[in-house]
Amino acid sequence: MPVLSSPPLEPPYLTAEEIEAFAPYPLPPAPAGQRARLRKRLAEAGCYEPGQIGGRRWPIGCVSLEVTQRCNLDCSLCYLSEHSEAVRDIPLEELFRRIDMIQAHYGEHTDIEISGGGPTLRRREDLIRIVRRISEKGMRASLFTNGIRATRELLTALSEAGLTDVAFHVDLTQKRKGYNSEAALNAVRERYIERARGLPLAVFFNTTVFAGNFDEIPAVVRFFRRCLSWCTTSWMPGGLSTSGCTPVCSWWHRARGPFPCACTTPNATALSCDRCPWPRAPDPGTP
Ligand code: SF4
Repeated sequence: MPVLSSPPLEPPYLTAEEIEAFAPYPLPPAPAGQRARLRKRLAEAGCYEPGQIGGRRWPIGCVSLEVTQRCNLDCSLCYLSEHSEAVRDIPLEELFRRIDMIQAHYGEHTDIEISGGGPTLRRREDLIRIVRRISEKGMRASLFTNGIRATRELLTALSEAGLTDVAFHVDLTQKRKGYNSEAALNAVRERYIERARGLPLAVFFNTTVFAGNFDEIPAVVRFFRRCLSWCTTSWMPGGLSTSGCTPVCSWWHRARGPFPCACTTPNATALSCDRCPWPRAPDPGTP
């Protein structure tokens, strides 16, 4: 009986050359060119403001690195397909290669969202190595999680590996048992804040705005205003975005004390804060 050769264990991934061949625009010769490109595009759209860090410190808002499609929730507005649970996790080596590509493409200081699915469903050691790899490459690692498995112990280990931000996704689309309003979910949000309290992490919350919670958004905003020293928020997919890093800087200084880098955030002076936790790229000025 003929012996059938086994198929390769992992699917083939695009090489850097193949990706470049399909790129929608020519890549700049060096990562620094990405910041200039973003400045130009923002200026063309009339969105380049004094004090804006996009285009000065960051070459791009962020890059999402999907580390798994598995998840322990089943949100009604999830962006993944119905078959996501059947998708195998990308091997660690491939993720490392992608992290290296991101660094080669956008350079240092790039913010990488470690996303999924639920990234905390990956092995703890894998997650730590992913964060460490990003940090060692001079970039910022953000964990995007629904929080269920983001324990204090895990957040501590990840922050020691170089994690800079944690973004908790909490809202009614998740159908968490025992929580039938956004106001009730504030108890979950408070628990997550406590898990991160005192760690050198910026804390964010993502909230999906949809018909089922639209009337409750003012109450959620009031909650976030109460804890603004501890977190920032972003709203999706309704197009609202209230992110800002001033509260994060303030939080950081309480947690860690001063850092020797000048900050360009618009509200920095309002808090007498001219420092932030991240290394600062040279400011190239306005385009
Ligand atoms: S937590 Fe995120 S990945 Fe998981 S089901 Fe919800 S939207 Fe999808």
